[in-house]
Amino acid sequence: MNAISLMPLRALAGRFSPAGSKARLSILIYHRVLARPDALLSAEPDAHAFRWQLQVLASLFNVLPLSEAVERLAKGTLPARAACITFDDGYADNATVALPILQELGLPATFFIATGYLDGGLMFNDQILETLRRVPEGTIEWPELGFEPRLIRGDQDRKQIATELIQGLKHLEPDERQTRAQAIAERSPTPLPTDVMMTREQVKELAAAGMTIGAHTHRHPILARTPDAQARAEIAGGREALEQLLGEPVRLFAYPNGKPGQDYDHRHVVMVREAGFAAAVSTAWGVSTSSSDPHQLARFTPWDQTPGRFGLRLLRNLMTHESGHEV
Ligand SMILES: [Zn+2]
Repeated sequence: MNAISLMPLRALAGRFSPAGSKARLSILIYHRVLARPDALLSAEPDAHAFRWQLQVLASLFNVLPLSEAVERLAKGTLPARAACITFDDGYADNATVALPILQELGLPATFFIATGYLDGGLMFNDQILETLRRVPEGTIEWPELGFEPRLIRGDQDRKQIATELIQGLKHLEPDERQTRAQAIAERSPTPLPTDVMMTREQVKELAAAGMTIGAHTHRHPILARTPDAQARAEIAGGREALEQLLGEPVRLFAYPNGKPGQDYDHRHVVMVREAGFAAAVSTAWGVSTSSSDPHQLARFTPWDQTPGRFGLRLLRNLMTHESGHEV
């Protein structure tokens, strides 16, 4: 990648994202940054890809902390080409792999942590993925799980079956989802890893490095599938655990899964606002403007594999009209 080839994109970005009251805020979402490529997690960047992605971002945009961006968006004082970097869920590689790269490039980021999985836990999707990683090649038959016999010949099959199982469980009510994922995890021939998610110490390490910590509920339920009282407790509980750990207020929230109208609805926006969060982010793609609801800021994930295409994707998002804010 060379910086000169991105100059025309930078000029275009400035046209679509001017400073001040007409500013458009881009917010990127990451989940994991892998220490090395992983065939079962091929959509996640490794350290090498993450570094060049951030280099492209920083050469096209002005990267600022989300909390500052939220305030300046409301006041109409954002710089041109404003962008923020966010991470969801609380994967350990955020601290071990992403943090050193962010520090090397001098870029701030916000980490939304689901507190129920800190110190050795696994989210349901990782229980399934890590189980499929460990079952031996051959036919798997798990009839009591309602599971047709399937043939595993390699990583493609492992990934395909894990994806299908995750999709099938994702939108279940939280307790049911956990029970089913646990039953699958018990099929693993060897113990599942305990170092996939962050430790509490790693969360503190991110905060001590000047990064922002945001709330992402306790157990990452799909709020729209969760009884109201439980949803409210999940929203408040995740935040309290983080505030207790860090000894400072947690002001930002990310909706689990985050699709407006599908994963959360207006009830949850009210719950998040009433809980006192200054802002919240969804996964509705697009940009935010001064007229956006600060409790439903749009985010997106550029996925392209080359710097030029990645830069174009950032630009295309800038031209996407705000979407999905009416729920
Ligand atoms: Zn999440």
